[in-house]
Amino acid sequence: MGDSSHTSDDRLHRRGLMFILSSPSGAGKTTLSRMLLARDSEIKLSVSATTRPPRPGEVDGVHYHFVSPQEFDRMVEEDDFYEWAHVFGHRYGTPKGKIRAGLKDGKDVLFDIDWQGTQQLYQKDQQDVVRVFILPPSLEELHRRLTGRATDSAEVIAARMERARAEISHWDGYDYVIINDNVDVCFEKVHAILEAERMKRQRQTGLIPFVRGLMG
Ligand code: 5GP
Repeated sequence: MGDSSHTSDDRLHRRGLMFILSSPSGAGKTTLSRMLLARDSEIKLSVSATTRPPRPGEVDGVHYHFVSPQEFDRMVEEDDFYEWAHVFGHRYGTPKGKIRAGLKDGKDVLFDIDWQGTQQLYQKDQQDVVRVFILPPSLEELHRRLTGRATDSAEVIAARMERARAEISHWDGYDYVIINDNVDVCFEKVHAILEAERMKRQRQTGLIPFVRGLMG
């Protein structure tokens, strides 16, 4: 069995999961991700690399690794990405890092990626991937939220609305779908999914010897 040094109770040892949150831009996914990371110390964010410039308040290495197009090219050539995709004229990619080793060790990883990245991760690793899609309550509300984010131009907002419709059309590629009417209620649902998925029998490898013991 893998290293269970993170817990003194071997029964608790389980395989980690890849928890993907996707939504159209403005549906609240970033807020939900931050809430999840704050509430649950057992899940860590996969920090993507992107060629888009940082927004105010975004910190390099925390929200994204902000890289030049040349640096991104180099990472693609060196096979550094688990998956990558073009989104809104920029490129975004999930660095391989130590994801696989972490999963074996029972570490959960949160991915804030689009439907293209979700498909690629799922094709590579169906066993560990949990796909959650967040829907806005309406397109009007989505527009209101995107306009409230004053950092983007009207052109960018229009492009994002267009893109939102396209993103929503991929909702059938997800295991769970939640409407974000109220961010606190939505968060509790996201967290409940994470907790339930952790208890899936296949992930609870540490239970095998324990249950054998119970059976006598
Ligand atoms: P934003 O520029 O608003 O931070 O993100 C734009 C879109 O890119 C979002 O839908 C976000 O989920 C997606 N995204 C962020 N990182 C990655 C990544 O590493 N891979 C893929 N495929 N999509 C990403």
